[in-house]
Amino acid sequence: MSKHAFPTDCPCGSGKPYKDCCFLYHMEKETAPTAEALMRSRYAAFVLKKADYLLFSWHPDTRPQTLDFEGDTAKWVGLSIIATEGGGVHDNEGTVEYVARFKIGGKAAKVAEKSRFQRVKGWWKYVDGEMEE
Ligand SMILES: [Zn+2]
Repeated sequence: MSKHAFPTDCPCGSGKPYKDCCFLYHMEKETAPTAEALMRSRYAAFVLKKADYLLFSWHPDTRPQTLDFEGDTAKWVGLSIIATEGGGVHDNEGTVEYVARFKIGGKAAKVAEKSRFQRVKGWWKYVDGEMEE
């Protein structure tokens, strides 16, 4: 998908138009209100290959130097939030357990992770995650 593609339905699966959903956070002008919303916006950023936003929403202590999607042929097909702990509008920490499904070379695959999130100066950031089998 090109950098300028503007999908009608938000790729995070909220059912809302992208411009009223993760786009608001992808602009980097306001934080996602909850850890789950940040997780959804990061998934949408993977779908739309927004490396800048993925780095921006990564905790400075764990963030990689660079991120690019060169040669990445994974096609993301859906996100399911399994459970959340903390991560609310009044919290500073939280975890989100999710399953993200994708296709690669025509084969279905998935990533299951319990991710940790923390606020940094009010902004939710992804810290790290434990992969699940
Ligand atoms: Zn969204």
